[in-house]
Amino acid sequence: MIDLRSDTVTKPDDRMRDAAYAADVGDAVYGEDPTVNELEERAADVVGTEAALYVPSGTMGNQIAARVHTERGQELLTDEKSHIVKYELGGAADLSGLQVRMVDADRGIPTPEQIANGIVQESLHRPGTGLAWLENTHNARGGLAIEPEKIDAAAKAAHERDVPVHLDGARMFNAATALDVPVTELTEPVDSVMFCLSKGLGAPIGSMLAGSEDFVEKACRVRKLFGGGLRQAGIIAAPGLEALGNVDNLERDHEHAQRLADGLEAVDGFDVQPPETNIVLADISGTGLETDAVLDRLREKDVLATQFGPSTVRFCTHWNVSSDDVETVLERIETAV
Ligand SMILES: *Cc1c(COP(=O)(O)O)cnc(C)c1O
Repeated sequence: MIDLRSDTVTKPDDRMRDAAYAADVGDAVYGEDPTVNELEERAADVVGTEAALYVPSGTMGNQIAARVHTERGQELLTDEKSHIVKYELGGAADLSGLQVRMVDADRGIPTPEQIANGIVQESLHRPGTGLAWLENTHNARGGLAIEPEKIDAAAKAAHERDVPVHLDGARMFNAATALDVPVTELTEPVDSVMFCLSKGLGAPIGSMLAGSEDFVEKACRVRKLFGGGLRQAGIIAAPGLEALGNVDNLERDHEHAQRLADGLEAVDGFDVQPPETNIVLADISGTGLETDAVLDRLREKDVLATQFGPSTVRFCTHWNVSSDDVETVLERIETAV
């Protein structure tokens, strides 16, 4: 089976399993797990913040950030296709009492004008905007790598109006790799950032939430509130430390995505959005087949992809996909559709 549904399907390698086995552990809720502490220090270093917090999932990291930065009833301003809008069960409303204001942002990154117009000032009638929310790479728009200048401009527009900014950087190392910039250029303009260890970096579990010392201290309390206070978490943090060393693999994933896109474009009825990172979106309406039927036919040939909109199929490359796998997938798709 060649699984291209998501980069979350990666399995930990022997190095990660060995690291988990050998991990020095303690009670992380007491701050006494040396492996978790090391991971948090390393992660803060890598993204250039004062501190970082280990969290079980990207969703929890995002939801903690939303809670820490805001007061109940405030607005959260973001692109209409951001992950927190589409795929987090309305958590901003459910867990933090936020009203979400959405803009239709080109490439998923609001312009300074969209930020300025979208921010509402608190008054007798209006709740006020508590947080501006950016995403990089932009998942639902096809893994788009958002340039540091655009992040910076959006963040400035929010900061000028005293609104803090969170970056959902689940795949921000993919963005940094694609743009060939240090990841710190993407994180420097924002007040907090979340990134996933469990996607292209290959860890089995875990994400990091980073920001100032004050932010992380508050985030630690909310993590406990949300049920994310883990005990001997060094067992799962140790593969996370290994994952931080996997950033260099992402370039290969991007090359695979490009090769896959080129091959898919040649398939009758496929219309492929040029990939910027490890996500390939193909509109398959030209095949005359339903998306479900295309996915079923691929599954029969031991290839897994996922539906991403009415007539869109998503293919995601990752470190368990080799260049031979990509060629195999292309051969099988030809015959499947
Ligand atoms: C995957 C993802 C998340 C959530 O991460 P989980 O670990 O799956 O909860 C958040 N934001 C974006 C953009 C993602 O792609």
